[in-house]
Amino acid sequence: MAIQLLPPQLANQIAAGEVVERPASVVKELVENSLDAGATRIDIDIDKGGSKLIRIRDNGAGIAKEELALALSRHATSKVHTLDDLEAILSFGFRGEALASISSVSRLTLTSKTAEQSEAWQAYAEGSQMEVKVTPAAHPQGSTIEVVDLFFNTPARRRFLKSDKTEFTHIDEWLKRIAIARRDIHFVLTHNGKVIRQYRPANTEIQSQQRLAQICGRAFADQALSIACEHDGLSLSGYLQSPHDRVITDTSYFYVNGRLVRDRLVNHAVKQAFAEQGVEHQPGYVLMLTLDPHQVDVNVHPAKHEVRFHQSRYVHDFILQAIQSALSQMPALDFVEPQI
Ligand code: ADP
Ligand code: MG
Repeated sequence: MAIQLLPPQLANQIAAGEVVERPASVVKELVENSLDAGATRIDIDIDKGGSKLIRIRDNGAGIAKEELALALSRHATSKVHTLDDLEAILSFGFRGEALASISSVSRLTLTSKTAEQSEAWQAYAEGSQMEVKVTPAAHPQGSTIEVVDLFFNTPARRRFLKSDKTEFTHIDEWLKRIAIARRDIHFVLTHNGKVIRQYRPANTEIQSQQRLAQICGRAFADQALSIACEHDGLSLSGYLQSPHDRVITDTSYFYVNGRLVRDRLVNHAVKQAFAEQGVEHQPGYVLMLTLDPHQVDVNVHPAKHEVRFHQSRYVHDFILQAIQSALSQMPALDFVEPQI
């Protein structure tokens, strides 16, 4: 075969293979866009596990009419302009691929209004060239992205979808992880027209605890040790399951500069600190690490689940010490009265 440039839709579908695995990955990308746009309220409507409809509505900054077409194109982003920007990322997005990818494997419409505009506009891309059509619409400030019939044109992917219930559970689980890190945001999640989760914004410590209990369970929230530690540009905050609380939990969420990541480093540090106290089981945790974005590479994986620390030993030891110090402020385990 002769060498040819791929038509845009096909190029986007190939890119979608890496980031759009299932409805939950669409929800992740779209909600992260809403957060990057400064939204304080995000409504997520799902029909049939997301295979029929995923609709994300936010009250963020919106997209100007002239930029709607760009927003739907690949490699178009407002978040990174130079290599320096890429090396100091604090936004969720930076690849400029999500909207183009999702729109190449679904029927996607983007409706938006900025504060400066008096009218809203709607955009959608069609055909192999993904030509963008823009029409007038009604919408308050912010954006709504509607994704209908996910994978309708990529049957191989569509076949991999599980039951509506399973796909919805993936969405619900992912939203929990983001709702716990962003307790300032109001999230509403519906499935087939029914409100399933309502996370009200937490502005006080009590409300914050309520959200923790809502997501991680009352026992975890009531007994968890608070972590708040800062040293030399690194800061760790969050909650650690109390060693007295023997309930087995799979709550182990770790965030780096607000981004949920999978990383063995934190698991290792938590385990080590507990082992030193004679506790062998793996405790639950919700830990947020903040550090200079230059110290961490987030551009490791298309779905951005992983990061690379420039000084991972240093970060590990900092986390270990933060946890050791939280544990040392508890009454010694030996003196705890047996629970009857
Ligand atoms: P990225 O997030 O990596 O920049 P995306 O394809 O997800 O790439 O989005 C492309 C651009 O569209 C973003 O850079 C942003 O400017 C704009 N955008 C997407 N979603 C929203 C939203 N909900 N509100 C405001 N702007 C948005
Ligand atoms: Mg994005």
